[in-house]
Amino acid sequence: MDQIRAVGGCAHPVYLSGYTTVRDTESGAILRHFDTAGEPGGRLAVRCRNRRETRCAPCSYLHAGDTFQLVRSGLAGGKGTPREVREHPRLFVTLTAPSFGVVHHITESGSQCLPRRGSSVCEHGRRVGCHVVHGSDDPLLGQPLCAACYDYAGHVLWHAHAGLLWNRFCDRVRRLLATSVGIAQSRLKDHARLSFAKVAEYQQRAAVHYHAVVRLDGPRGPDDFPPSWASAGLLEKAVRDAADVVAVYIPYSAAVGEVVVQWGTELDVHAIDHFNDDSPMTDERVAAYVAKYVGKSVSEVGGADSRLTSVAEIPYAAVNAHVRALMGTCWRLGGLRELAGLRLRAWAHTLGFRGHVLTKSRRYSTTYAALREARADHLRGASDEDLGAGTVTDSAWRYVGSGHTPGAAELAAGVAYDHAESRRLYKEAQEDEKRLRRGKGWGTGA
Ligand SMILES: [Zn+2]
Ligand SMILES: [Zn+2]
Ligand SMILES: [Zn+2]
Repeated sequence: MDQIRAVGGCAHPVYLSGYTTVRDTESGAILRHFDTAGEPGGRLAVRCRNRRETRCAPCSYLHAGDTFQLVRSGLAGGKGTPREVREHPRLFVTLTAPSFGVVHHITESGSQCLPRRGSSVCEHGRRVGCHVVHGSDDPLLGQPLCAACYDYAGHVLWHAHAGLLWNRFCDRVRRLLATSVGIAQSRLKDHARLSFAKVAEYQQRAAVHYHAVVRLDGPRGPDDFPPSWASAGLLEKAVRDAADVVAVYIPYSAAVGEVVVQWGTELDVHAIDHFNDDSPMTDERVAAYVAKYVGKSVSEVGGADSRLTSVAEIPYAAVNAHVRALMGTCWRLGGLRELAGLRLRAWAHTLGFRGHVLTKSRRYSTTYAALREARADHLRGASDEDLGAGTVTDSAWRYVGSGHTPGAAELAAGVAYDHAESRRLYKEAQEDEKRLRRGKGWGTGA
């Protein structure tokens, strides 16, 4: 039970066996020694650190919190990033995939799905319109009206090149910025640096969107003042123009023909405002928004969380017909020699997308590793801080297994539930207090 509590009720802990000894370099005296020989089962439980809520709720909660801090510190400062980054030009940008075919959707006005095209049919004899007003839990949402018309190869190849398209987009933004202020492109790095953190989100149609924080710094990064010409307006123009023109041309293949990978026409660009609390785009809101997506996974749009090992698994995968068709397309295209470099079969479960959920440029803010280390230091207590200089550490660890027994899994679920419940109660108490203060006229800004 102590082991399970120590890992916060992690659903799939990893077990290690071994020791760590810290000695004083000069005297050789043992300052600290930890050995799993004295632990239950002779092993130490370590968190799985899975970011997906479907895999491990406690670890995904921690991961989402770290993501929030990581994104927030790049917007508002903190965790080693100076507070002055608030004054740098900052945008919140959403880049989308283009359309690969007409899909069932909810309209903003709450009207019919696709009313005007209701009577015409496609070459496969299927109606190309839909008179239904879909509910938010309708399994048809995101599914194509005609699967035969849908460009599955285009969808999968877009996923496979989305990372490259993003890199080219960033390069283009840099070039456009340089040109607009009359600097040679190769000299921009002496004047300004583009930093970003972005998160990939699967939409209902199982295509990836990017939500990104884009920031303009001085040449040395967040510690450096951006040049006098840097403004959110100028950055926005460069972002819009770059999104418009950037493209990846895939070499011709007899199976898929000529494919050009570009962003969709739906593009959202907002300046992030820290002066105005009423603005929908404040530091906190953007950070919370981004963190929310990191715990999600392809399984929430009906995809799979783990790798497929053979084509025979696809018909049995617990996914909808649209996602199954995307997986099947990955498998089929993955067998083509000219596309071998994309490793589409290894990434069939993510529908061809190979990127990390969250990626950031090197100087955006802190790292997950630094945040985890800070948490571990905090848990160990400040008394250990003096261990470091003048000490030598000797350790040996090996992996001895993972996962709970059925009984321990029950206990872990109980611990995880208790944690979640106390968080909920704490939040409620905080909200009550806020309401109380407001009621007594202490002001909301306090
Ligand atoms: Zn876990
Ligand atoms: Zn529809
Ligand atoms: Zn059709």
